[in-house]
Amino acid sequence: MTKINWAGFAKKNPKERLSQIKPLLSKESHHILENHVLLKQEIASQMVENTLGTFALPFSVVPEIEVNHKDYTVPFVTEEPSVIAACSFASKIIKRSGGFKAIVHNRQMIGQIALYEIKDTHSAIKAIEKHKKELLAIANSAHPSIVKRGGGASDIKTNLIEDETPLLVVHILIDTKEAMGANIVNTMTEALKPYLEALTNGKSLMAILSNYATEALVTANCAIDYRFLNRDKVKAKELAEKMVLASNFAKKDPYRASTHNKGIFNGIDAVCIATGNDWRAIEAGAHAYASRNGRYEGLTTWRLDEANKQLLGEITLPLPLATKGGSIGLNPSVLVAFDVLGNPDAKTLASIVASVGLAQNFAALRALVTEGIQEGHMKLHARSLALLAGSLPDEVAFVVDLLLKEKHMNLSTAEKILEKYRNNILE
Ligand code: NDP
Repeated sequence: MTKINWAGFAKKNPKERLSQIKPLLSKESHHILENHVLLKQEIASQMVENTLGTFALPFSVVPEIEVNHKDYTVPFVTEEPSVIAACSFASKIIKRSGGFKAIVHNRQMIGQIALYEIKDTHSAIKAIEKHKKELLAIANSAHPSIVKRGGGASDIKTNLIEDETPLLVVHILIDTKEAMGANIVNTMTEALKPYLEALTNGKSLMAILSNYATEALVTANCAIDYRFLNRDKVKAKELAEKMVLASNFAKKDPYRASTHNKGIFNGIDAVCIATGNDWRAIEAGAHAYASRNGRYEGLTTWRLDEANKQLLGEITLPLPLATKGGSIGLNPSVLVAFDVLGNPDAKTLASIVASVGLAQNFAALRALVTEGIQEGHMKLHARSLALLAGSLPDEVAFVVDLLLKEKHMNLSTAEKILEKYRNNILE
């Protein structure tokens, strides 16, 4: 395994960082980063409609996230300051305590075919059960290549929704291997429509995958020794207790849970975007999962292990991530992201991403129950204002320092500070 010396990485400039992580990269990835090769206009305009150009975002890495005893360098694409620093800080502490342990419980997608105007739903359900094998064969013959890859449709279930117009919903479970599987699932469910209509004597309303991927759940855990939370034993224990309280707060109050989970997605979305994954699908599924108990709840749980003097963290969420398909092969930056990660398979990627979510949550809760996040955020806000005011890289630190001393920070103050600086009339 390639070992990188990460010392001073955060303090270097992008060129220096690139040379530091060079041993991790293939020649092609290094060329892409060194020469700022981006998604080509011709490709972009084939991907979606009405294209005018492409849109750039910062591409960063979080070093050394240890998952199941292996270190990963994790690519992040985000415009939000402090997300990467927070994840790096958390994963460093967690690595000292043995890293993350992650389990992929299953990796199947669910397709739904909703049927209505069925006269006898009881007989319809029986007919579906009786013809299960045949229905699975029809689904698999609609997308034979996924069967050749060792995947395909494996089970069929039914769910009757009693309503003014009852709906009989047929769920089909499909192993989509390395793909997220939206198109694979949709092709199979569409193919089943006419057969199910005939079998049930009903009409089909729609056929599409469900993003509530409850058959693609992933759990990541960590156990952090109190001693890594603070050098002072009393303060360390107090912090661990506050983390537990913060976790309970997010379980009981949806107003808090929403912000708690947003912090988790700061990291998860950043990796999904970097790896060309459909982050809307991942968010939709996870938010539905957060509501599975009839109330929107925080996705993580923190508790104490008093005997071993450890703070235990856990996250479980649906993560049907892909390493193939969709736009993954089209964007050169995505190629670099996979290269940096060591080209994991879909299940390993899901383990890494769940761990990122837990790390991000640890950092956010720790900051919230100690110094709060505003102090750090004001610095970052000052930085954004300095940049917006037009500061050059070597002027930014100076403008930020003075802005932080101002009572009211805004763009016009930043512009005035910069102007004074440039005119050398600062006292
Ligand atoms: P694709 O339609 O691209 O299908 C996967 C492709 O990957 C297939 O062409 C398959 O080839 C290829 N492939 C190569 N190796 C493998 C492997 N080992 N395992 C699996 N497939 C492999 O992608 P998806 O079906 O995953 O659909 C994802 C796209 O659908 C995303 O762009 C998403 O945004 C979009 N989408 C999402 C919806 C949602 O609700 N979430 C709804 C509609 C679209 P082969 O055919 O030879 O097997």
